[in-house]
Amino acid sequence: MTVASTVADQLGAFIPRDRILTAPEDLIPYSFDGTAVLAQRPQAVVFAQTTEEIAQIVRWANSTHTPLIARGSGTGLAGGSVPSPGSVIVCLTKFDRVLELDRANLTLLVEPGVATQTIFDLADQAGLLYPPDPGSMKISTIGGNVASNSGGLRGLKYGVTKDYVMGFEIVLPTGEVAWIGNKCVKDVAGYSLREVFIGSEGTLGIFTKIMLRLLPKPKAKRTLLAVYARMEQAAETVSAIIAHPIIPCTLEFLDRTTINCVEDYAQVGLPREAEAVLLMETDGHPAVIAEEGEIMARLAREQGALEVRVAETTAEALKLATARRSAFSALARVAPTTILEDVTVPRSELAGMVRFVQDLARRHDLRIGIFGHMGDGNLHPTFLTNEKNTDEMHRVELAFQEIVTETVRRGGTITGEHGVGLAKKKYLPESVGNLNLDIMRQLKRIFDPNLILNPGKMFDA
Ligand SMILES: Cc1cc2nc3c(=O)[nH]c(=O)nc-3n(C[C@H](O)[C@H](O)[C@H](O)COP(=O)(O)OP(=O)(O)OC[C@H]3O[C@@H](n4cnc5c(N)ncnc54)[C@H](O)[C@@H]3O)c2cc1C
Repeated sequence: MTVASTVADQLGAFIPRDRILTAPEDLIPYSFDGTAVLAQRPQAVVFAQTTEEIAQIVRWANSTHTPLIARGSGTGLAGGSVPSPGSVIVCLTKFDRVLELDRANLTLLVEPGVATQTIFDLADQAGLLYPPDPGSMKISTIGGNVASNSGGLRGLKYGVTKDYVMGFEIVLPTGEVAWIGNKCVKDVAGYSLREVFIGSEGTLGIFTKIMLRLLPKPKAKRTLLAVYARMEQAAETVSAIIAHPIIPCTLEFLDRTTINCVEDYAQVGLPREAEAVLLMETDGHPAVIAEEGEIMARLAREQGALEVRVAETTAEALKLATARRSAFSALARVAPTTILEDVTVPRSELAGMVRFVQDLARRHDLRIGIFGHMGDGNLHPTFLTNEKNTDEMHRVELAFQEIVTETVRRGGTITGEHGVGLAKKKYLPESVGNLNLDIMRQLKRIFDPNLILNPGKMFDA
């Protein structure tokens, strides 16, 4: 009897066999996530559909000391759901029912495998808004979003996933099932355990139900795109808009490399010679967004924009937004390996940080496209490389380290939304310091004494 079939037999005691994969060819798609270069074969994949099934799997893993990796759609960009050696993957995509839309309290209760887009659509159909909109929302799961505390294009005005999580049911590494949070708008009873688990990247528990906060849907939206000869002008436009003060829902930028890749891919009509484009969106009451749209266009021109396009129709707005939404896919087409960075600096440091990365690309002879959430100071330098070219990968590694050091020097953080996982693990001490890291280790050991949940991710406990 093989080791894999032994695991299947053990799991088969409480999960139907047709929801357990052990054949090597079936395991391949679960050996990696959206992160380049990282891969590891699990010993089995199990599709859980109820909280009780997950609690049983976790109790089994805890008693046999088997590493367990929670997995949503595997779109993560930090290697968070990449298997650890000898691990079992608990895949949650089939655990995907919508349980309750509570209009009186504006909450939505769902299981963890529901796709983010489905949540947005359900809210939209009810005249409501679920704001977090990661670029992967068509396939990412809400469980993955909560475990990664994902951001999105609307983060500047609306915040990130944690701002919309009212509560959740979670299976702890011991197999106990906890309910944390409630439908109350205010709650200061004890420590905020929500904050401990949100963004814990599958290392402290497995989310099995999630209660989300919804907002009234804004009545209208205005979309603008400004074109610049210099990146600083785009950054200065952002500062001028915020100082005005206007808080748009979206302030996103693309650099010249990304503009050209997007044009090759989606033919949006962006000027290839521009050094930066800035996508701006404001939403709210029609009268307010009309006024804000005019002010933002004026401020962009005052900061030297060569051209400001204002979408007149929904179709035009979608086309402009496509320029930003397709950035990653457009870059990913042009090289065999795409490695996406996710550093965040104080907004005032963003233009300088972009310059630093552009200079770095020249010094290390690398191709790097840069795009990101300018209003949040969150940039995604994207390395267009080839993992088979060992010399180039060495230069990528050196460049990565330089970006991290420069980010920390500028008061920034190594990850704004993608998480630490495996990809950023070695940079975590430099980013948070030894004391904070030690507190995180102690927390991990309190919840997960046998270190079974996503071991080796974020840090070695
Ligand atoms: C094209 C593209 C665009 C993207 N755009 C964005 C973006 O704009 N903003 C952003 O923040 N991210 C973005 N991402 C990254 C990624 O999509 C998000 O991190 C997303 O939340 C991952 O969801 P998932 O269901 O794929 O989770 P997975 O990749 O499967 O897992 C992510 C992490 O969550 C854990 N996990 C998953 N489900 C659970 C659960 N139920 N309980 C406990 N832990 C769990 C896993 O163990 C892992 O550590 C993008 C990725 C791609 C490929």
